[in-house]
Amino acid sequence: MRYVRVEVDGAVRWGVIRDGEVLTLHGTPYEELVYDGGVFPLEQCALLAPCTPSKVVCVGKNYADHAREMGGEPPGFPVLFLKGPNTVNRPGGGIHAPAFVGRLDYEGELAVVIRRRAKDVKAENFASYILGYTCLNDVTARDVQQHDGQWTRGKSMDGFCPIGPWVTDEVDPGSLELETRLNGKAVQQGNTAQFLTKIPQLLEFITASMTLEPGDVVATGTPAGIGLMKPGDVVEVELEGIGILKNQIL
Ligand code: MG
Repeated sequence: MRYVRVEVDGAVRWGVIRDGEVLTLHGTPYEELVYDGGVFPLEQCALLAPCTPSKVVCVGKNYADHAREMGGEPPGFPVLFLKGPNTVNRPGGGIHAPAFVGRLDYEGELAVVIRRRAKDVKAENFASYILGYTCLNDVTARDVQQHDGQWTRGKSMDGFCPIGPWVTDEVDPGSLELETRLNGKAVQQGNTAQFLTKIPQLLEFITASMTLEPGDVVATGTPAGIGLMKPGDVVEVELEGIGILKNQIL
């Protein structure tokens, strides 16, 4: 299944993509799917972020090569931080940083979208808690992050978390190629097989401390190659078998 959230005919609807069309739903994809009879060509639909998280739980330094480019050794456990719901941005949405931001970075990542309330999950049961997978850009005001000495302000500015274009359960998240492109040029390449902590163990680690709700997102970390974006730049995050998340810097 490929799940989308779209704006069509002036209303926001959830839907499922089938043969280039969006079949719209009553309610959300987190419950049993109930189709409402609406069918719209995908190209007539404005894509929104394909989930509405109460929080985005991010893993810092989940690839060894990125940990090293940040000047340290890989941590021995997942380092977590949050992005607030104010950061969620849509496929094609503009990314705008306040004028005081001196360095605005992309971080291409695989995102996990939660299907049902998750607390004290055991790694071997992880799959039943997951709706699917999508692309995410963990946009970061790097100079603010470094100035503050912790990550809240630099990571959680409005619109700093584009997600999309849709959520799919049709991939094996254990081995997916990831590529980030800036103005068409590849700047990050990785594979989710390189994760220091894999998704089942991440869910067990996170939910030992905090409850994840339907629609919450786990951002699984970025590979080496982070770099800055300037106004006018176009940034794309592509995950193998999922799709391309494309945004422009305003
Ligand atoms: Mg990140």
